[in-house]
Amino acid sequence: MDTTEGPAVTELDVLRPGDGGYDTSRAVWNAMVDHKPAVVVRCRTADDVVAALALARREGLEVGVRCGGHSVVGHGVPDGGLMIDLTPMGAVRVDPDRRRAWVQGGALLGALDAATQPFGLATTAGNVSHTGVGGLTLGGGMGWLARRCGLACDNVVSYEVVTAAGEVVRAAADERPELFWALRGGGGNFGVVTEFEFRLHDVGTRALSVELDFPIGPAGSGDAASAASAAFRWRDLSADAPRQATYTAAVHDGVATLGFVWVGDPDEGREHARELDALGTPSARRVEELSYLDLQTREDSVRGHAVRRYWKGHYFRDLPDAALEALLAHDPEVRAGLQAYGGAIAEVPDDDAAFSQRDTRFEYVVAAGWTDPAEDERLIAAARASAALLEPYASGVYVNVLADDGAAGVRRAYPPAKLARLAAVKRQYDPDNVLHLNQNIPPALA
Ligand code: FAD
Repeated sequence: MDTTEGPAVTELDVLRPGDGGYDTSRAVWNAMVDHKPAVVVRCRTADDVVAALALARREGLEVGVRCGGHSVVGHGVPDGGLMIDLTPMGAVRVDPDRRRAWVQGGALLGALDAATQPFGLATTAGNVSHTGVGGLTLGGGMGWLARRCGLACDNVVSYEVVTAAGEVVRAAADERPELFWALRGGGGNFGVVTEFEFRLHDVGTRALSVELDFPIGPAGSGDAASAASAAFRWRDLSADAPRQATYTAAVHDGVATLGFVWVGDPDEGREHARELDALGTPSARRVEELSYLDLQTREDSVRGHAVRRYWKGHYFRDLPDAALEALLAHDPEVRAGLQAYGGAIAEVPDDDAAFSQRDTRFEYVVAAGWTDPAEDERLIAAARASAALLEPYASGVYVNVLADDGAAGVRRAYPPAKLARLAAVKRQYDPDNVLHLNQNIPPALA
């Protein structure tokens, strides 16, 4: 098929600098990102995506693909290039009897949860409802259901994809299996996904959150010792926790908050919470019963997309005492968190999908958020320094928390054999690396 000639530009919904809606379309979650595309193509169908790719080719423009806009470095918005804006493709269709959801490539997690929960169904999604299904699922997709139901990518049954050459194809276990393998964890490298077909699970609508605060205090103080001992016990308890529980830890503002999120019967969650008595006496204890939908929105940003951001992440296969002590020693101005993996995530054979490091026990993210540009340097340095404290204990990183880490970051996310296999798929589906504004797998690995 000759894909060099797309439909006339006038048939596409195109925005250029100065047009109404242009600035809204290029605004992303991190206010530090101020990329100005030459052209924004607001895509409503897979054919629009085909036409947008053809237009980029004709005009020699760099291509970016935007879904939820949560890439911390703004990968979805090409500076001076052509932005394939998938946000008009945000629809979700559910078949409750077959337990399937068909989700358009520009949908946000909130739309997916809102469509499935009326039936008591859900699939694994992330913790913030304004994150894109697209970027999150293509990189893996960790959420409160993952220990029970697998990662978001483990629940994708099929993908509709527009390849870099402009062909609309389907990938599933029995159709283009190598592309299907790469799409489950390899990011947006292999095509523009215009529809995801998800498997749904009967998870009910209730959840419970349990949080215990331990003031950290200065090094050597009684508080510091109590917080450390609580953190060690929290880690040990997490190893045998039921799959409904995802253990969480947060360190911020001189306080360590330890606990778990439970999806399922809140009474069973409360019963499990008794185990946390072993942590010691917290300064505050919050046990909150909430709906799954409220859980899925409670970390949403109230300040919209107006905050400047930076983050770094690690994976941990083990979390020795010294690593937890390093976590407690973080700069109080940054916020660091741990979220437990294991359960169904670890049960999927490693070579089943591109997603890597399934034996991870904890994912760590340290994040800074601020509004005054004069603070950029100081707070980015604080986040980097905090992450550096934990680096000696890290086993790798989740591709979706990579920021400005470049090729070295991608090598931390995938072992060499997977990278080589991903590069082979890239050579087949995008040999010219048209789709490179992502955590890039170049066709020819250096
Ligand atoms: P975008 O910036 O739109 O896209 C990110 C990348 O994916 C870009 O390279 C883009 O080109 C590509 N892409 C997006 N959609 C498509 C598509 N349909 N086809 C092809 N390529 C596409 N991750 C988790 O796993 N669990 C969490 O709970 C979680 N919470 C988060 C909370 C916040 C506040 C933020 C900022 C991020 C969170 N993340 C989480 C990380 C998140 O998964 C990544 O930032 C992800 O890349 C965001 O995807 P997006 O579609 O929102 O972003």
